[in-house]
Amino acid sequence: MRFSKLRLTGFKSFVDPTDLIISDGLTGVVGPNGCGKSNLLEALRWVMGENRPTAMRGGGMEDVIFAGASSRPAKNFAEVALHIDNSERLAPAGFNDGDSIEIIRRITRDVGSAYKAAGKDVRARDVQMLFADASTGAHSPALVRQGQISELINAKPKNRRRILEEAAGISGLYARRHEAELKLNGTEANLARVDDVVEQLA
Ligand code: ATP
Repeated sequence: MRFSKLRLTGFKSFVDPTDLIISDGLTGVVGPNGCGKSNLLEALRWVMGENRPTAMRGGGMEDVIFAGASSRPAKNFAEVALHIDNSERLAPAGFNDGDSIEIIRRITRDVGSAYKAAGKDVRARDVQMLFADASTGAHSPALVRQGQISELINAKPKNRRRILEEAAGISGLYARRHEAELKLNGTEANLARVDDVVEQLA
């Protein structure tokens, strides 16, 4: 999966629509302290489904919306669009209808966030699974934020295993197994109720 463009609108310090073109090869982002380099990485993580405000250096999810500056009022929404090159048709069914796929996440104050993929409304889970199955996503070990290396070194073995699972591309399966277990538990509870009813009727 190759990302070709990231567009930020009202996201943190990027109040006006801003495009980051991701060409073949290495893309470097340079600039003075506080100019928004980390915000770009956070936008990438956010559009892929990050839901922990702490991972976005905020207290709540709405903190990603441009909060205003001396010369500009605050915005009411933030939007990030990620363009994925799908010329090799590697995206799963449902996403696979063009050379390029656009994933959009938008958050509106007091409303919450919503996703679109290839022009259609989709669930957060669908977007998270799309990236998890492609061995990337909000928690991908390829996205290294400040302080993460020392966290990794000091991590407990269970947390370190999660990182290896994400790198191996099986974290999507992990989430599906969890869902299957929940369904199984629900079915077992229903069966127990059926047994009770049958016993009462006998
Ligand atoms: P450094 O090199 O110091 O790590 P950086 O280039 O990575 O800096 P960021 O941390 O990405 O910079 O950007 C920080 C800037 O973003 C700060 O000026 C901060 O005020 C601004 N910022 C963060 N959230 C918002 C928001 N919701 N609204 C407006 N500006 C914001």
